[in-house]
Amino acid sequence: MSAMPASHPPDPIYPPVSILSVALRCRCPRCGEGPLYDGLLSVAPSCIRCGLDLRAQDAGDGPAVFVVLFLGAVTVGLAILVEALFSPPLWVHVVLWTPLVLGGAILLLRPLKAGLIALQYRHRHLGASPGG
Ligand SMILES: [Zn+2]
Repeated sequence: MSAMPASHPPDPIYPPVSILSVALRCRCPRCGEGPLYDGLLSVAPSCIRCGLDLRAQDAGDGPAVFVVLFLGAVTVGLAILVEALFSPPLWVHVVLWTPLVLGGAILLLRPLKAGLIALQYRHRHLGASPGG
């Protein structure tokens, strides 16, 4: 009989956390304390601090798209610059850019994925109020 809102009500126990802080520290989007990952890039089943179901907070392919576009632009720009200045043999490009791409992807994917999960959580659970 009551007019329940379509979205979940905000949890009064956990005030909204900083998206940037949660992303950089790879923490739970609700409490900001529990680790988000259970491994390199695997999201933990649930937060060990607040019990939030983290498997339901899926960021999909969004973080990978950002990483591919950013790393691709930076790497191609640097490769063109190195080629124009030094004209090194091809193996030098392989030695230079392979670690940059692999390391950069791993370093960027974790905080970007955590940030997108935190943004999704905020907009799903704490964001727009119903009817306004
Ligand atoms: Zn938590």
